[in-house]
Amino acid sequence: MRILIVEDDPVLADGLTRSLRQSDYAVDCVSDGAGADHVLASQAFDLVILDLGLPKLDGLEMLRRVRRRGSRVPVLILTARDTLEDRVKGLDLGGDDYLTKPFDLPELEARVRALIRRGQSGGSSLLSHGALALDTSGRRATLNGEPLDLSGRELGVLEVLMLRSGRVVNKEQLTEQLYGWDEEVGANAIEVYVHRLRKKLEPAGVSIRTIRGLGYLLEKPPHA
Ligand code: CA
Repeated sequence: MRILIVEDDPVLADGLTRSLRQSDYAVDCVSDGAGADHVLASQAFDLVILDLGLPKLDGLEMLRRVRRRGSRVPVLILTARDTLEDRVKGLDLGGDDYLTKPFDLPELEARVRALIRRGQSGGSSLLSHGALALDTSGRRATLNGEPLDLSGRELGVLEVLMLRSGRVVNKEQLTEQLYGWDEEVGANAIEVYVHRLRKKLEPAGVSIRTIRGLGYLLEKPPHA
């Protein structure tokens, strides 16, 4: 799951980035409204955390532009402006939720999970594929009902493959979903995660096929 933080306070942006990455989200940051508008016009995110007081382009105006382009990406507004007027305006312009600074990180993370869940598959957070089930909000996977021991990145790869089950997912798409722009990605990192996933999934008949030159495909479950 990929999150864009739009925040001009470097300390807050850094703290948020670190804590969300610890929860295995891919996180990118932009520090002004115009930059965020540009990024959102060309790249896909699962959630935007938006500060309102921003240089270059105000957060509310940026949000207006994003919605005018037809984007439905969930937006969590984050602001020190705790006036009813701003709150109403933010929600009217297409914000999905609102959090006033200062806030507690656990509360922010709970809202992030709820918004991402709402944004996916009509609100359901449970993906299933044959013997395999994955709870995207609880970040847990099970195989034949038994808990599956996966690292955060393995879970991330599996989540992307399950969301696009039956379709080929290329390495760039996986990298984009799993890492922020400034994170170092080893050349074989994705192969390594896929390899580890295969070892854990194949005994239960769930297989990830390599489509040479194109990417990976989570094959349809045999009995579905
Ligand atoms: Ca600000």
